This record gives sequence, structure tokens and C-alpha cells, in this order.
Amino acid sequence: MNREVRVRFAPSPTGPLHIGGVRTALYNYLFARQHGGKMILRIEDTDSQRFVPGAEDYINESLAWLGIEIDEGVRQGGEYGPYKQSERRDIYRQHVKTLLDNGKAYIAFDTPEELEAKRAEVANFQYDASTRMSMRNSLSMPADEVQRLIDAGEKYVVRFLIEPGRDVVVNDLIRGKVTINSNVLDDKVLYKSADDLPTYHLANIVDDHMMKVSHVIRGEEWLPSAPLHVLLYEAFGWTETMPEFVHLPLLLKPDGKGKLSKRDGDRLGFPVFPLEWHDPKSGEISSGYREAGYLPQAVVNFLALLGWNPGDDTEIMSMTDLIEKFSLDHCSKSGAKFDFEKGKWFNHKYLQEVDNTQLAEMFKPILAENGINPADFSDEQIARIVEMVKGRVNFVKDLWEQSRFFFVQPTEYDEKSVKKRWKEDTPALMSELIEVLKNIEDFSSASTEAIVLGWITDKGYHMGNVMNAFRLTVVGECKGPHMFDITEMIGKEETITRVQLGIERIIK
Ligand code: GLU
Repeated sequence: MNREVRVRFAPSPTGPLHIGGVRTALYNYLFARQHGGKMILRIEDTDSQRFVPGAEDYINESLAWLGIEIDEGVRQGGEYGPYKQSERRDIYRQHVKTLLDNGKAYIAFDTPEELEAKRAEVANFQYDASTRMSMRNSLSMPADEVQRLIDAGEKYVVRFLIEPGRDVVVNDLIRGKVTINSNVLDDKVLYKSADDLPTYHLANIVDDHMMKVSHVIRGEEWLPSAPLHVLLYEAFGWTETMPEFVHLPLLLKPDGKGKLSKRDGDRLGFPVFPLEWHDPKSGEISSGYREAGYLPQAVVNFLALLGWNPGDDTEIMSMTDLIEKFSLDHCSKSGAKFDFEKGKWFNHKYLQEVDNTQLAEMFKPILAENGINPADFSDEQIARIVEMVKGRVNFVKDLWEQSRFFFVQPTEYDEKSVKKRWKEDTPALMSELIEVLKNIEDFSSASTEAIVLGWITDKGYHMGNVMNAFRLTVVGECKGPHMFDITEMIGKEETITRVQLGIERIIK
């Protein structure tokens, strides 16, 4: 590639960034970093009707949380700014004028009502070469009349003059050559005098040129706008610097039937947004990956594999690995199923990699929520507890369920386990066990294990029966890490108390 790689992520601040948009940002970022190029964040806020306060901050915060770094943007600045379209009105105005002066665009006065009437009259009406001369515009009306209307302040739009009967070729690096006949395109509105703003189409394309974008990497839903990109570049005389196109496959519902939507997330209980979003108008709260307990590395890894694969079976890849391995050749054309369970699996894997001390810090607020004062335990203790149980959880918050017995005595005993494990002779065995425990001086895991197991063997007791009953009294159910690691952690006195309480409380 002889051209400097410059890619852009160009969201419209119309609400929270959807997880599909996050994937688009990620692929842009991976591609940019791999080629030593630049990643631009452009805010496309020309549609004032759909502007939502807070959405721009949300975009920035989401990308920062995931480690998707921006080289040029509203916050970062850069040579080709401003990076917010509402601050580029003059630029668009000039470009609209250029097109008008060169006869590549024209002014149209048709009111919404007139357009509506036309649609009712002509089946499949499209504003194009076949209809434009029957409409109220600068092609069909005398120049002085056009000027008179403009001077009178009549609202107008500027439309792109699409030449009919041309094959427009879009070169897509995933899909190959996509040819679209210009007859299916309408004369797109590029600018509206009413708010003195360009439409998405003009602003997006002018900015791609001015920001020297080399690759337009975006969701498949934008493929229909690509021919317009090509034609506008041509109309402006920029064909030589036309970006390459990459349209990413759709994210599909978990069952593969149709596009992933917010409703699927609500229905199946998973977030479709990176961060929790509080809708400023409705007050509605949508869940986010961050608040649901996901680690950003896990989300990045999970998203990277939705529509791309490294060419082998490797699944766990850090951002650095992804930057190295990413390639458009391995992006799929067909939609990617949103396998939410896989997302949990990634979080589980990444959680195992987190340092126990750090995990302990993340766990402390959860302890507090459950009525435990973390200060009653040393950092080492919490870290050791976390180490013992983390293999069983997907999320930090689940550490509590797996480790509560380290912090509080059981108050209930699992019914099924009692039924199965608490025999008639168990209370007597447990009383005997208490005596054995009392005599142990070194209560470390290995020492206690050797003595207790030695006692069971010497007496010819049934190992499973004794150990399961023991566990039941200490944990409250027959699960948990190595029994003697638990007793070492809670200590001799507490272990004996729990066995005693079990004898008193467990009734079969
Ligand atoms: N503003 C468009 C969006 O919201 C950008 C599409 C593009 O990347 O060209 O996704």
C-alpha cells in the first residue's frame, strides 16, 4: 500500500453507540494501527432533528474504555479539523456552490406536500432524470424565477444531478467489485437552505476527501451510499484520491435470523451497548457491558471475532495480537451471529488473567454490597480467596456466590446434600472430628489434611461420607475449593464452631 492509511470512525450522536458501531470502530482501529496509519473520530451531527445530548461524550467514553485510541478528533485535534460536522458549515457551503457552478447539482423548491402529491400520482416515484423536468427546480424553471424565489426567502434544497444509465463501480475490499446502475439512484438532497446544513451524504463525502481518508470501513448498511461516494468524488474531480471501501458484515441475532437489535438484548438478557445509557428524554436505562461486569479486553476480543478470524483456531488475542493478525482477507461477507454465551466465556478467560490483588480490589465493593466490611479482612486474605474461586466465575460479581462461606457462617444447609450426605452416624463422626481438629497445632492446609485424612483411614471410615459431611457443616453445601484450603483460611476456631453448629442444626 503506497498511500498513508487514514481511516475514520464517523458516528452520528443520535443515541448510545450500538455494539455493532463499536465493532466498526475496532476494525478501523486495528487496520490503522497495523499499517502505522491514523485513526480519525468524526462526529457527524448535521441532522439536528436527531441530535441527542450526551451521545458524543458517550462515544468518547466507550472508545476510551475499550482502549480504541483516536489520533485525530474533536478532543485530540489534528491538522484537518474541525472534526465535528456542525462546525464545518462554511466548508460544505463552498462545496455546494462548486457543484452548482459546475452544473453538477441544482436547486429544487418542491415542498414536502408537492413531493407527497407526486408520489401518490406516480407509482415508484423517484426524483431523477425521468422526473426532474416535471418538478419545480432550477433545471425546469427560468433562471430569473429561481433567483426571485431565493430572494423571497423560499426554502430550497440542492440536489445532486445523477446522470442516468451509468454503471458505477464500487471497489469493496471484502465484497470485490460491486456495480450499481445509476438509474436506481435518485438525485440525492445534498443541502437544505432551511437549516443551512448539508445532508449526511455531502458532509460525509466532502470530509472523507478533506481528511484524506484512504479506507472507508463501515457497516454493510452503508453500502447503498457507496455509489454516491464514487459519483461525488468524480463530480468534484477527486477520483484519484478515492478511498477504498470496506463494508463489514451485519451483526445478526443469536439465532442468525435477522439483524441484532436492542430488543434482542432486552429479550435474551444481554447488553447491546458498551456502557450503560440513560436516555435523557425517556429516562430509560439500557444496560452496558462495562456495568454488567465485562472487562474491556474481553469485549474487544469477542467483538474482533464477530466477522473476522485469524485464519486458525486462536481465540484469545490481546489488542496487540489483534493489531498484528487482523486482515481484511479474513473478514467474512456474510453476517456474524452474536453468540452472547461466547462473550461470557471470553470474560471468564480474561478474568483468570487478572492479578489476584487487582481482582480483590474489584471484589471489595461487591463484598460491601453484601454486608461485609472488606476492612475486616486483609488484602492478602481477599486475594487468596479470590484466587481459590475465580476459576468458577464469569464475572467479578459472581465471586460472592462462590466465596460467601469464607466471610459468613452458613445459616442454611443445602437440602439435597443433607439428604444424601448426612447419615445417622454423621453427628457422632463430626463430634469425633472436632476432637481431632482441636488437637491440630499447625492448622495449615497440608498439615490439617494429613491429620484428618490419617484419622479417617486409621479408623476405617468412609472417606466420602466424612469429608462431605464436614464440607456441609463448613460451607453449607457440597461445593467449593479444596476443603483444607477453606479451613486454613477461616482458621481453627471458626472451623470447629461450624462443625459444632452443623451437628446442632442439621436435622435429616
Ligand atoms: N454517520 C454515519 C453513521 O452514523 C457514518 C457512516 C459512514 O461511516 O460513512 O454511521
